[in-house]
Amino acid sequence: MKIIMLGAPGAGKGTQAEMISEKYHLPHISTGDIFRANIKNGTELGKEAKSYMDKGLLVPDELTVRILLDRVAEEDCKEGYILDGFPRNIPQAEVLDAELGKLGDKIDAAIDIEVPDENIIERMMGRRACTSCGATYHIVNVPPKKEGTCDKCGDALILRDDDREETVRNRLNVYHEQTQPLIEFYQKKGVLKTFDGTKDMMDVFKEITEILA
Ligand code: ADP
Ligand code: AMP
Repeated sequence: MKIIMLGAPGAGKGTQAEMISEKYHLPHISTGDIFRANIKNGTELGKEAKSYMDKGLLVPDELTVRILLDRVAEEDCKEGYILDGFPRNIPQAEVLDAELGKLGDKIDAAIDIEVPDENIIERMMGRRACTSCGATYHIVNVPPKKEGTCDKCGDALILRDDDREETVRNRLNVYHEQTQPLIEFYQKKGVLKTFDGTKDMMDVFKEITEILA
């Protein structure tokens, strides 16, 4: 099963992708996490990606597409995967489609999680992310057991550099201009499923599992 998560930054894509990954034993592939791991390790790719991420802009397709295609070619992706944060624009979606088409394959479900812009800022300000395993929390909605510490791996939780208010506003503009058109793209392919992301995360998850079952 090949699944794409759609929705604004902060809609809950990573939160749901993580739960889907555990239930269906599919790898959760987040291009944002791949970039952040590269930034942490000080790679050339990380340095280049950071200059765009800090401004809330998309990392250029030439960098992003290759990384994603290499990742989905790995052994653990044979039975499928969950893409979180890719594709982010129509050209990325077209490349993915073409590559899958060469293998006689396709995306099975595009899960669109809808949350109004006015709720997004509050979510992002409260988000805390683990720098090691990528797990995310929210200081009010999804608090870790011990403040500032990841429940899963025990490492430190941080406020992401790009989760500051001005950057979040830029990211929302980029989302509306470049990413939102993907909703129609996948609707036309007949694989779009839309969910109300303002509901409790477990309720959203239950609804998602009902359509994936
Ligand atoms: P995305 O991957 O779409 O950027 P996240 O999954 O990181 O979004 O979620 C953004 C923030 O909102 C996180 O702090 C997360 O804990 C919180 N969150 C996720 N889903 C919900 C929900 N249904 N209700 C309230 N808060 C949520
Ligand atoms: P995310 O973790 O999905 O919120 O992504 C964080 C940042 O990484 C984005 O604001 C972009 O700068 C960059 N990024 C992640 N995925 C992509 C992508 N598919 N295309 C371009 N940039 C991306």
